[in-house]
Amino acid sequence: MTNPAKPNTNRLLQQSHTNMPMGVADSYRYWGEDNTVFVKSSEGCTITDADDQTFVDFRLAYGPIILGYRDTRIDQEVIKAITERGTISGFSTDLDSEVIELVKQMCPNIEKMRFANSGTEAVIGAVRTARGFTGRNKIVVVEGGFHGLYDEMMWKSDVDNWDAASGKAPEIASFGVGIPEASREHLETVPLNSFEAIDAVFARVGGDIAAIVIEPILGNCGSIASSQEYMQKLRDMCDANGTLLIMDEVKTGFRVAKGGAQELYGIKADLTTYAKAMGNGYPVAAFGGRADVMDIINFNKKGVTHGGTYTANMIALSAAKATLTILNETDAYATINKVGAQIQQVLSRVFTKHGVEHRFAGPDSMFGIHFGDLVPTNYRDWKQTDSELYTEFAMNLIKHGIMLEPDSREPWFICEAHKSVDLAWLEEIADRSMAEAIA
Ligand code: PLP
Repeated sequence: MTNPAKPNTNRLLQQSHTNMPMGVADSYRYWGEDNTVFVKSSEGCTITDADDQTFVDFRLAYGPIILGYRDTRIDQEVIKAITERGTISGFSTDLDSEVIELVKQMCPNIEKMRFANSGTEAVIGAVRTARGFTGRNKIVVVEGGFHGLYDEMMWKSDVDNWDAASGKAPEIASFGVGIPEASREHLETVPLNSFEAIDAVFARVGGDIAAIVIEPILGNCGSIASSQEYMQKLRDMCDANGTLLIMDEVKTGFRVAKGGAQELYGIKADLTTYAKAMGNGYPVAAFGGRADVMDIINFNKKGVTHGGTYTANMIALSAAKATLTILNETDAYATINKVGAQIQQVLSRVFTKHGVEHRFAGPDSMFGIHFGDLVPTNYRDWKQTDSELYTEFAMNLIKHGIMLEPDSREPWFICEAHKSVDLAWLEEIADRSMAEAIA
């Protein structure tokens, strides 16, 4: 079946099926034969599809867009850098330190840093560095977190197929075939915000744990946040056991505050990963933290190896420099937070009007919506929310011109350009979409 209202999209999808598995470049972009989106252009907070439907976008490419699409302040700096200097040289440039010094101004947790090309690569670098520094192998991750597409991190708590009433923990399942069982050997999983679970894992294997890797606010599970006490507990357990605390701020970094989630909690990680908002959509990533830990990266037999052909290329670093300068020097965060709060108020009014119990989670710049009367504190709680109603509501919003991921595990992302959104229009569309969802 194809969508009769989308002839160009249908044609592109059919063509793509002959060229790519599932007809898409990233499996998560396949939304079925009727709903897969092909984007023609983007601007500000909008994207326009191949059939000329324009959407106000709250998905923002899974979070990198923090200022807006095609922000000329960034694009012009990138064009200048690559036309004057080239894209790569395979050598160091002055931009390396310039960007890191900007990061250090914004994120006092960073003493030394290295670049990467994606969030996945940044996490690989941070985990290897932590293992090299501690001489240990085990990694503790939090259920519902996501740390990129590499074998070791491609195990998840299988809440989708979990019987909550069973009293048992969910099974740990791989993201699919092709992931060797051996890649799970050093991974331990715990539910977010459970002191008991973290105590138990340290009691069992504490001396072997190189690092806890955590998204402080679960950007891949409806922005469910670590409590202040839990984050402090993790910091204390790491300090007491010679374990490193790695905060994966690929989604929260340079988004929820200048200094990321660590600024909100006032708790420092030993190592932090960044990507997404760091370059407003240009592919740049990094990891860094304590100088003594990072200095284990060195080119001898006792050091950690890190690098890559495209690491710290001109496109990535000129974009990062321009983006971070704007975020550091303007009131972009105040605008983003204000608009995010207004949008939640609008949505809340609509849900209340329709008698739909709801809870918001996370910060205003990346908030989750959970239908039900429970504020989820971890992924297991998320299972109790009405995620099916959410998906129906979301699909209706998309039909009417508001783009978002139709899965309540993905937050609503706000960028500076959302300040132009007509809130009365948003309310009308949300009202219509909820009315249709509960009809
Ligand atoms: N870490 C987190 C918290 C993420 O949300 C993601 C991607 O969404 C990644 C790592 C992987 O980043 P990338 O897709 O750039 O490899």
